Amino acid sequence: MADRAEAQLRAEIVEVGRRLYARGYTASNDGNISVRLDGGRLLMTPKSVCKGFMAVEMMCITDLDGKKIAGDRDPSSEMQMHLEVYRQRPEVNAVVHAHPPIATGFAVAGIPLDRAVLAEVVTTLGSVPIAEYATPSTKELPEAVRKYVKAHDGMLLANHGALTMGGDLFGAYYKMETIEHFAKISLVARLLGGERLLSRDEVTRLEGLRGKYGIASPAPICADPAASLAPLIGDAIDCQIVQSPVSTTGERLVPGSTDGAAGQGVRGPVDGEIRLTYSELTALIEDAVRNLR
Ligand SMILES: [Zn+2]
Repeated sequence: MADRAEAQLRAEIVEVGRRLYARGYTASNDGNISVRLDGGRLLMTPKSVCKGFMAVEMMCITDLDGKKIAGDRDPSSEMQMHLEVYRQRPEVNAVVHAHPPIATGFAVAGIPLDRAVLAEVVTTLGSVPIAEYATPSTKELPEAVRKYVKAHDGMLLANHGALTMGGDLFGAYYKMETIEHFAKISLVARLLGGERLLSRDEVTRLEGLRGKYGIASPAPICADPAASLAPLIGDAIDCQIVQSPVSTTGERLVPGSTDGAAGQGVRGPVDGEIRLTYSELTALIEDAVRNLR
Protein backbone atom coordinates (compact mmCIF):
# COMPACT_ATOMS: atom_id res chain seq x y z
CA MET A 1 0.00 0.00 0.00
CA ALA A 2 2.83 2.37 0.88
CA ASP A 3 4.35 1.78 -2.56
CA ARG A 4 1.11 2.62 -4.27
CA ALA A 5 0.87 5.85 -2.30
CA GLU A 6 4.46 6.71 -3.24
CA ALA A 7 3.85 5.90 -6.91
CA GLN A 8 0.83 8.22 -6.86
CA LEU A 9 2.86 11.05 -5.32
CA ARG A 10 5.66 10.59 -7.87
CA ALA A 11 3.09 10.92 -10.65
CA GLU A 12 1.60 14.02 -9.00
CA ILE A 13 5.03 15.71 -8.77
CA VAL A 14 5.55 15.04 -12.49
CA GLU A 15 2.13 16.56 -13.26
CA VAL A 16 2.67 19.63 -11.06
CA GLY A 17 6.09 20.16 -12.71
CA ARG A 18 4.50 19.87 -16.15
CA ARG A 19 1.91 22.52 -15.24
CA LEU A 20 4.48 24.90 -13.73
CA TYR A 21 6.54 24.73 -16.92
CA ALA A 22 3.55 24.88 -19.28
CA ARG A 23 2.28 28.04 -17.58
CA GLY A 24 5.70 29.70 -17.72
CA TYR A 25 6.14 29.66 -13.94
CA THR A 26 9.58 28.13 -14.40
CA ALA A 27 12.18 28.43 -17.15
CA SER A 28 14.93 25.93 -17.88
CA ASN A 29 15.69 23.99 -14.66
CA ASP A 30 14.10 26.46 -12.23
CA GLY A 31 11.84 25.52 -9.39
CA ASN A 32 11.38 22.52 -7.12
CA ILE A 33 8.59 20.43 -5.66
CA SER A 34 8.45 18.20 -2.59
CA VAL A 35 5.95 16.10 -0.64
CA ARG A 36 5.94 14.19 2.65
CA LEU A 37 6.11 10.41 2.56
CA ASP A 38 5.51 8.31 5.67
CA GLY A 39 8.25 7.63 8.19
CA GLY A 40 9.63 11.21 8.25
CA ARG A 41 10.74 11.01 4.64
CA LEU A 42 10.37 13.49 1.77
CA LEU A 43 9.99 12.85 -1.93
CA MET A 44 11.39 15.70 -4.03
CA THR A 45 12.51 16.82 -7.44
CA PRO A 46 16.20 16.37 -8.24
CA LYS A 47 18.56 19.21 -9.11
CA SER A 48 19.24 20.25 -12.70
CA VAL A 49 16.17 18.93 -14.46
CA CYS A 50 13.51 20.86 -16.35
CA LYS A 51 10.30 20.51 -14.35
CA GLY A 52 8.29 20.27 -17.56
CA PHE A 53 9.82 16.96 -18.63
CA MET A 54 10.33 14.85 -15.53
CA ALA A 55 9.81 11.11 -15.18
CA VAL A 56 8.57 9.41 -12.00
CA GLU A 57 11.86 7.56 -11.43
CA MET A 58 13.88 10.83 -11.33
CA MET A 59 12.69 11.82 -7.83
CA CYS A 60 14.85 11.42 -4.77
CA ILE A 61 13.93 10.59 -1.20
CA THR A 62 15.53 12.35 1.76
CA ASP A 63 15.01 12.49 5.49
CA LEU A 64 13.85 15.67 7.23
CA ASP A 65 17.47 16.83 7.54
CA GLY A 66 17.91 16.60 3.79
CA LYS A 67 20.08 13.48 3.82
CA LYS A 68 19.49 11.42 0.69
CA ILE A 69 17.94 8.00 1.38
CA ALA A 70 17.11 6.88 -2.15
CA GLY A 71 17.34 7.98 -5.77
CA ASP A 72 20.02 8.14 -8.47
CA ARG A 73 20.06 11.92 -8.55
CA ASP A 74 20.81 14.50 -5.88
CA PRO A 75 18.00 16.56 -4.36
CA SER A 76 17.30 20.13 -5.36
CA SER A 77 19.80 22.74 -4.22
CA GLU A 78 16.91 24.74 -2.74
CA MET A 79 15.87 21.80 -0.60
CA GLN A 80 16.82 23.64 2.64
CA MET A 81 13.94 26.05 2.08
CA HIS A 82 11.53 23.10 1.84
CA LEU A 83 12.97 21.50 4.98
CA GLU A 84 12.41 24.73 6.87
CA VAL A 85 8.72 24.69 5.90
CA TYR A 86 8.28 21.05 7.01
CA ARG A 87 10.03 21.77 10.31
CA GLN A 88 7.85 24.81 11.10
CA ARG A 89 4.55 23.52 9.76
CA PRO A 90 3.68 19.92 10.74
CA GLU A 91 0.33 20.10 8.93
CA VAL A 92 1.97 20.99 5.60
CA ASN A 93 2.53 17.98 3.34
CA ALA A 94 3.73 19.61 0.12
CA VAL A 95 5.87 22.58 -0.97
CA VAL A 96 6.19 24.21 -4.39
CA HIS A 97 8.79 26.77 -5.43
CA ALA A 98 8.78 28.53 -8.81
CA HIS A 99 9.61 31.81 -10.53
CA PRO A 100 6.26 32.94 -12.00
CA PRO A 101 7.18 36.12 -13.88
CA ILE A 102 4.60 38.65 -12.68
CA ALA A 103 4.70 37.64 -9.01
CA THR A 104 8.49 37.53 -9.28
CA GLY A 105 8.34 41.03 -10.81
CA PHE A 106 6.66 42.22 -7.60
CA ALA A 107 9.33 40.36 -5.60
CA VAL A 108 12.06 42.09 -7.65
CA ALA A 109 10.41 45.50 -7.24
CA GLY A 110 10.11 44.89 -3.48
CA ILE A 111 6.32 45.21 -3.53
CA PRO A 112 4.44 42.66 -1.40
CA LEU A 113 1.02 41.42 -2.53
CA ASP A 114 -0.65 42.50 0.67
CA ARG A 115 -3.47 44.78 -0.37
CA ALA A 116 -7.08 43.84 0.27
CA VAL A 117 -8.19 43.60 -3.34
CA LEU A 118 -9.74 40.24 -4.17
CA ALA A 119 -12.19 38.51 -1.85
CA GLU A 120 -10.95 34.99 -2.59
CA VAL A 121 -7.32 35.94 -2.00
CA VAL A 122 -8.13 37.63 1.32
CA THR A 123 -10.13 34.57 2.37
CA THR A 124 -7.56 31.98 1.35
CA LEU A 125 -4.01 33.37 1.45
CA GLY A 126 -4.64 36.57 3.42
CA SER A 127 -1.46 38.38 2.41
CA VAL A 128 1.58 37.40 0.38
CA PRO A 129 4.62 39.02 2.04
CA ILE A 130 8.18 39.19 0.71
CA ALA A 131 10.89 37.23 2.46
CA GLU A 132 14.15 39.20 2.49
CA TYR A 133 16.69 38.52 -0.23
CA ALA A 134 18.96 35.55 0.33
CA THR A 135 21.43 33.83 -1.95
CA PRO A 136 19.64 30.82 -3.47
CA SER A 137 20.81 27.39 -2.30
CA THR A 138 22.55 28.84 0.78
CA LYS A 139 21.54 28.68 4.44
CA GLU A 140 20.37 32.29 4.17
CA LEU A 141 17.29 31.26 2.23
CA PRO A 142 15.64 29.08 4.91
CA GLU A 143 16.47 31.81 7.43
CA ALA A 144 14.69 34.43 5.30
CA VAL A 145 11.67 32.17 4.87
CA ARG A 146 11.48 31.31 8.60
CA LYS A 147 10.09 34.72 9.56
CA TYR A 148 6.95 34.33 7.43
CA VAL A 149 6.36 30.61 7.20
CA LYS A 150 4.33 30.14 10.37
CA ALA A 151 1.61 32.58 9.33
CA HIS A 152 1.54 32.32 5.52
CA ASP A 153 0.82 29.62 2.95
CA GLY A 154 2.48 31.64 0.21
CA MET A 155 5.21 34.23 0.02
CA LEU A 156 7.40 36.06 -2.46
CA LEU A 157 11.17 35.66 -2.21
CA ALA A 158 12.90 38.98 -2.85
CA ASN A 159 14.65 39.08 -6.26
CA HIS A 160 14.00 35.39 -6.69
CA GLY A 161 10.49 33.90 -6.97
CA ALA A 162 7.64 32.51 -4.91
CA LEU A 163 7.04 29.71 -2.41
CA THR A 164 3.75 27.98 -1.57
CA MET A 165 2.70 25.12 0.68
CA GLY A 166 -0.39 23.05 1.33
CA GLY A 167 -1.95 19.91 2.71
CA ASP A 168 -1.20 18.10 -0.56
CA LEU A 169 0.70 18.68 -3.80
CA PHE A 170 -2.16 20.20 -5.76
CA GLY A 171 -3.13 22.37 -2.80
CA ALA A 172 0.39 23.85 -2.79
CA TYR A 173 0.42 24.16 -6.60
CA TYR A 174 -2.95 25.95 -6.78
CA LYS A 175 -1.68 28.54 -4.32
CA MET A 176 1.14 29.27 -6.77
CA GLU A 177 -1.51 29.80 -9.46
CA THR A 178 -3.47 32.09 -7.13
CA ILE A 179 -0.39 34.19 -6.36
CA GLU A 180 0.50 34.65 -10.03
CA HIS A 181 -3.11 35.43 -10.93
CA PHE A 182 -3.34 37.93 -8.06
CA ALA A 183 -0.06 39.53 -9.19
CA LYS A 184 -1.34 39.83 -12.76
CA ILE A 185 -4.59 41.47 -11.67
CA SER A 186 -2.75 43.82 -9.29
CA LEU A 187 -0.39 44.87 -12.08
CA VAL A 188 -3.24 45.59 -14.49
CA ALA A 189 -5.15 47.53 -11.82
CA ARG A 190 -2.07 49.63 -11.12
CA LEU A 191 -1.61 50.33 -14.83
CA LEU A 192 -5.23 51.46 -14.91
CA GLY A 193 -4.81 53.90 -12.06
CA GLY A 194 -4.64 51.75 -8.91
CA GLU A 195 -6.71 49.32 -6.92
CA ARG A 196 -9.82 50.24 -5.00
CA LEU A 197 -9.18 48.48 -1.73
CA LEU A 198 -11.67 46.53 0.32
CA SER A 199 -12.44 48.25 3.60
CA ARG A 200 -11.26 46.85 6.90
CA ASP A 201 -14.84 45.89 7.83
CA GLU A 202 -15.15 43.94 4.60
CA VAL A 203 -11.85 42.16 5.27
CA THR A 204 -13.17 41.15 8.72
CA ARG A 205 -16.32 39.82 7.04
CA LEU A 206 -14.23 37.83 4.52
CA GLU A 207 -12.05 36.40 7.25
CA GLY A 208 -15.26 35.17 8.90
CA LEU A 209 -15.96 33.12 5.77
CA ARG A 210 -12.88 30.99 6.42
CA GLY A 211 -14.72 29.14 9.17
CA LYS A 212 -17.91 28.86 7.15
CA TYR A 213 -16.18 27.28 4.15
CA GLY A 214 -13.68 25.25 6.15
CA ILE A 215 -10.67 27.11 4.77
CA ALA A 216 -7.66 26.24 6.87
CA SER A 217 -5.41 29.21 7.42
CA PRO A 218 -2.26 29.18 9.52
CA ALA A 219 -2.92 32.60 11.09
CA PRO A 220 -5.51 35.36 11.44
CA ILE A 221 -5.52 38.56 9.39
CA CYS A 222 -4.39 41.72 11.10
CA ALA A 223 -6.17 44.38 9.14
CA ASP A 224 -5.38 47.08 11.64
CA PRO A 225 -2.00 48.59 10.73
CA ALA A 226 -1.40 49.47 14.38
CA ALA A 227 -1.86 45.82 15.38
CA SER A 228 0.50 44.79 12.62
CA LEU A 229 3.38 46.56 14.34
CA ALA A 230 3.31 44.15 17.27
CA PRO A 231 4.06 40.95 15.36
CA LEU A 232 6.94 42.66 13.58
CA ILE A 233 8.79 43.03 16.86
CA GLY A 234 9.47 39.32 17.30
CA ASP A 235 11.54 37.34 14.83
CA ALA A 236 8.50 35.55 13.41
CA ILE A 237 5.39 37.22 12.07
CA ASP A 238 2.29 35.66 13.57
CA CYS A 239 -0.51 37.20 11.55
CA GLN A 240 -1.30 38.06 7.94
CA ILE A 241 -0.90 41.80 7.47
CA VAL A 242 -3.46 42.95 4.92
CA GLN A 243 -3.62 46.59 3.91
CA SER A 244 -7.22 47.70 4.13
CA PRO A 245 -8.25 51.26 4.94
CA VAL A 246 -10.92 52.18 7.46
CA SER A 247 -13.93 53.45 5.56
CA THR A 248 -15.21 56.69 7.04
CA THR A 249 -18.35 56.57 4.93
CA GLY A 250 -19.22 52.95 5.59
CA GLU A 251 -18.38 51.99 2.00
CA ARG A 252 -17.08 48.47 1.38
CA LEU A 253 -14.76 49.68 -1.36
CA VAL A 254 -12.42 52.51 -0.53
CA PRO A 255 -10.92 54.41 -3.47
CA GLY A 256 -7.21 55.18 -3.61
CA SER A 257 -4.35 53.06 -2.47
CA THR A 258 -2.52 52.73 0.79
CA ASP A 259 0.85 53.87 -0.41
CA GLY A 260 3.66 52.90 1.91
CA ALA A 261 4.11 50.10 4.41
CA ALA A 262 1.31 49.11 6.72
CA GLY A 263 1.53 50.69 10.11
CA GLN A 264 3.68 53.64 9.15
CA GLY A 265 0.69 55.96 9.21
CA VAL A 266 2.72 58.73 7.65
CA ARG A 267 1.05 59.21 4.30
CA GLY A 268 -2.60 59.90 3.70
CA PRO A 269 -4.64 57.06 2.25
CA VAL A 270 -5.46 58.92 -0.97
CA ASP A 271 -2.72 61.37 -1.76
CA GLY A 272 0.58 61.76 0.09
CA GLU A 273 1.43 64.94 -1.79
CA ILE A 274 1.79 68.25 0.04
CA ARG A 275 1.42 71.35 -2.16
CA LEU A 276 3.27 74.52 -1.18
CA THR A 277 3.50 77.93 -2.81
CA TYR A 278 6.96 79.15 -3.81
CA SER A 279 7.16 81.57 -0.88
CA GLU A 280 6.04 78.89 1.62
CA LEU A 281 8.70 76.55 0.27
CA THR A 282 11.37 79.28 0.46
CA ALA A 283 10.38 80.02 4.06
CA LEU A 284 10.62 76.32 4.96
CA ILE A 285 14.08 76.00 3.40
CA GLU A 286 15.31 79.17 5.13
CA ASP A 287 13.97 77.86 8.42
CA ALA A 288 15.71 74.49 7.93
CA VAL A 289 19.02 76.21 7.09
CA ARG A 290 18.74 78.38 10.22
CA ASN A 291 18.16 75.27 12.34
CA LEU A 292 21.25 73.66 10.84
CA ARG A 293 23.53 76.46 12.02
ZN1 LIG B 1 14.43 29.42 -7.23
